[in-house]
Amino acid sequence: MDKRIAVIEKDKCNPTGCGGYLCIRVSPGNRMGKEVFVIGPDGKAKVNEEVCTDAESVTVKKCPFGAIHMVNLPERLVEKPVHRFGSDGFILYSLPSPSFGCVTGILGVNGIGKSTAVKVLSRLIEPNLGSDGGFEGLLDYFRGSSAQLFFERLVKGQIRVSYKPQAVDIIPKQFSGSVRNLLERADERHALKDVCHALEISEILDNDIASLSGGELQRVAIAAASLKNASVYFFDEPTSFLDISQRIKASRFIRSLVNDDTAVMVVEHDLVILDYIADFVCVMYGEAGAYGIVSQSKPARNAVNSYLSGYLKEENMRFRNYEIKFSERAHESVLNRNPVVSWDGVVKRLGSFTLSAPSGSIPKGRVIGILGPNGIGKTTFVRMLAGVDAPDSGSISGNVKVAYKPQYLSFASDALVESYLKVDEVLSHRLNLAPLMKKKLNELSGGELQRVAIAHCLSRDADLYLLDEPSAYLDVEQRLVISKFLRERMESSGKTALVVEHDLVFIDYLSDGLIVFDGVPARSGVVSSTFSMEDGMNRFLGMLNITLRRDADSLRPRINKPDSRLDREQKDAGKLYYR
Ligand code: ADP
Ligand code: SF4
Repeated sequence: MDKRIAVIEKDKCNPTGCGGYLCIRVSPGNRMGKEVFVIGPDGKAKVNEEVCTDAESVTVKKCPFGAIHMVNLPERLVEKPVHRFGSDGFILYSLPSPSFGCVTGILGVNGIGKSTAVKVLSRLIEPNLGSDGGFEGLLDYFRGSSAQLFFERLVKGQIRVSYKPQAVDIIPKQFSGSVRNLLERADERHALKDVCHALEISEILDNDIASLSGGELQRVAIAAASLKNASVYFFDEPTSFLDISQRIKASRFIRSLVNDDTAVMVVEHDLVILDYIADFVCVMYGEAGAYGIVSQSKPARNAVNSYLSGYLKEENMRFRNYEIKFSERAHESVLNRNPVVSWDGVVKRLGSFTLSAPSGSIPKGRVIGILGPNGIGKTTFVRMLAGVDAPDSGSISGNVKVAYKPQYLSFASDALVESYLKVDEVLSHRLNLAPLMKKKLNELSGGELQRVAIAHCLSRDADLYLLDEPSAYLDVEQRLVISKFLRERMESSGKTALVVEHDLVFIDYLSDGLIVFDGVPARSGVVSSTFSMEDGMNRFLGMLNITLRRDADSLRPRINKPDSRLDREQKDAGKLYYR
């Protein structure tokens, strides 16, 4: 028997925006005198699940913000929820279970309940088991499972949990003072010096929190969480704003926290990093905003491949009706296309930083990835291409108009998205912008803000679109949708996109060619010309001293274990980017 669940996503519900409780006005049930949709105490729509019938699928479609969900679930699945927000809110079924001595990853789309699950495990949310089971109720729930011991200890207060939240940008709003002040307060393990050394933040200890870049804040937040004396460490998206070498170092550091008495859990959308950091992964699936189910924990490689395939074998569950595929696409040579802009002998000094760009050009109608560490002069270079800054010497030819999406995003304005964003139908549809239009700019979540900023950049009239880390806060599926869209748009419009990215899966999927920045961050940067994917990756991976292989089943890129047979073979053959 199926059971119907009905959910209103309160974040999305906008009763004024829909012209005044459209659902109440159009619901077939309401029209027959039943109270299917009513006005809730918070002024948003409320749905009464018990009287909701299949006929309401009309109402679901009518809501302009996609705030109403109605799903039929097999009874066996819905017997025991772990937590439900209110009587018509999101439902979380089951929980990922941490294992001592291991790093367990959590993988799933945004809004599927990952943060909710992590908060329940951190005891920040008291699970109500759909009704009023309380925290002790969890014990019955997990009795007889491998997670029983963990939950027994958790309920008895024998497990201390330390948590790095997803949004590091809000730290400066909650804390003022120096990095040292913040970390000394957190330092229960008396390990400040070692942790700062491992995360390369020793030099910024006396800086004010308010002055840190996103990448610095991320590492400070990782340090703060790991300095606590805990038995379980949670990291919610620990690599946003970090460049690739920082991601790898942060991953090694996070792995080093594991021992027989500690467990680490990580939510991560960068699949190369998730694969690198996690021993086991739990996949979360369901319907974003409505309900989330957690799979058994599986070895990381299998879990990521199952996730991409949309089918969980052990659970016999198809949760997506298409497969996410990578291909060994032959990258067409981009080097012989007409350039949109070219440069020669460019040098620019900014304080003690020098950028040089010997000679090169960028081809039209393509997406070019930019690889390089933070602080190496990527923005400086593009500002020169855009004519905003002039080089000290050398020349740039091609008079290009540039539209730019910065790495860090924030809006102080409480204006509505629709007053800021004028986009065409296709863009709106592909980036799923309609549900965001009536929201206020300063109330968007990280992922929503990212989509709005990308759309804003692409809606402008320009020859060259520069997107700095468009993947931050987007989930795997959104990343792939955006890369596909970008490629199509550049190809059809004959325009060019430059994309600064640190997620290797994304860059592999997205780019037709690569520009690689080399040098020493904050001192000197050297810009390459546009390379083919293979040459660019070889050069870049050589700088990082890593090699990549394609997974035999999903064809996604994976980092080879240092000094493994493949790693050595590929280095010997000079083929760091696949064999
Ligand atoms: P994820 O971490 O996978 O992106 P979340 O756990 O943040 O997902 O959210 C899952 C769903 O639960 C979302 O639809 C969100 O709006 C809803 N939700 C989260 N917190 C609350 C809350 N305090 N009250 C009501 N709904 C909430
Ligand atoms: Fe309007 Fe949709 Fe909210 Fe109903 S659920 S009040 S239709 S925004």
